[in-house]
Amino acid sequence: MSEEKKRGIAILGSTGSIGTQALEVIESQPDHFSVEVLTAGSNADLLIEQARKFKPNAVVIGDESKYKAVSDALWDHGIKVFAGAEALEQVVEMESVHVALTALVGFAGLKPTMKAIAAGKKIALANKETLVVAGELVTKAAQQAGVNIYPVDSEHSAIFQCLAGEFHNPIEKIYLTASGGPFRGKLRSDLAGVTKAQALKHPNWVMGAKITIDSATLMNKGLEVIEAKWLFSLKPEQIDVIVHPQSIIHSIVQFTDGSMKAQMGLPDMKLPIQYALAYPNRLSSEFPRFNFLDYPSLTFEQPDTETFGNLGLAFNAMSKGGNMPCILNAANEIAVAAFLNDEIKFLQIQEVIERTMESASFIEHPTLEQYIETDKEARALTKELIK
Ligand code: NAD
Ligand code: MG
Repeated sequence: MSEEKKRGIAILGSTGSIGTQALEVIESQPDHFSVEVLTAGSNADLLIEQARKFKPNAVVIGDESKYKAVSDALWDHGIKVFAGAEALEQVVEMESVHVALTALVGFAGLKPTMKAIAAGKKIALANKETLVVAGELVTKAAQQAGVNIYPVDSEHSAIFQCLAGEFHNPIEKIYLTASGGPFRGKLRSDLAGVTKAQALKHPNWVMGAKITIDSATLMNKGLEVIEAKWLFSLKPEQIDVIVHPQSIIHSIVQFTDGSMKAQMGLPDMKLPIQYALAYPNRLSSEFPRFNFLDYPSLTFEQPDTETFGNLGLAFNAMSKGGNMPCILNAANEIAVAAFLNDEIKFLQIQEVIERTMESASFIEHPTLEQYIETDKEARALTKELIK
């Protein structure tokens, strides 16, 4: 199948928030996209349902104990079924795949993304953790393979859209907008006893649990700052964060003549997903349109880094470089999982990340293997702190 006719899409993490929204986009654009590969961690039932509907070439279920269930359900549909970590990485190499949408969550995205790049596939990148952990390696590999990385994260999609036609013009700085999350305006003392139900209630976006907690701690914005550094080759001092509670302006580029371009629209991840999958084209859509009268004022505030210390930790990790962002990410993944499991309190998330960053071994120029080692070591250190 030639790419001119239809883009063949592999969705890594098809059962999640981004994955299911990507399938809605694909369903609404049958002339432009076909689903070639779907993968999921452990949600076999939804993966089966998706596969029966979209008829991909192949599916992978990460959890090997569910292989038989998936395989039994799909054998008479002519869909190849695989299971396990290796298959999750290798399946993107399939010839009919033109674009790999990385919609899995966390460090688990790193190896499949590297494989997809090595196989010359375009990357639609939702899995920001991959760039946080190993941005230098990933962007270098993409350059060497001549592969483009199209951002799905709404802020980075906004920057990317503002840069269309401007790629030769230097950027002075970018402003990543942040909603401020459910605890905007609160003080540290207010946050000591917040529950996970409160933290999971995001004002503007419905997302997976991990990124929703990251939004409540502002770690999500910290991860996005590091993601932006790698996507747009920026220096740390060129990246600023501004709180914009309405989430209408998705981010802003300021050029060297002082002109600023912003991208705006209703908060709906389907738009950046579609833009990444269809780039450089804009496909007409039925997404709800913005009405100015519904938003008589758009407001802006400084982020409160005193209360939301994770944002500061992410800036520190970015400035330190090397494997420090990988340490930050691993500690955060463990801390967020522990918070969701009622093992630690909200403010302890920051505390254990900070302590892990102080004690994990620092490596200035890590290899892929060393990133994997770092991730393991940092996870173990954080778990030890939580015990
Ligand atoms: P989610 O938890 O809803 O979905 C995660 C998906 O990945 C699921 O399909 C799950 O089965 C799969 N998965 C999880 N662990 C896996 C593993 N170890 N191996 C293989 N597959 C695994 O997450 P989400 O909210 O869709 O977020 C996905 C990524 O997109 C994250 O990196 C997140 O930061 C980023 N992102 C999400 C949003 C959003 O609106 N949800 C916005 C911007 C960026
Ligand atoms: Mg975002």
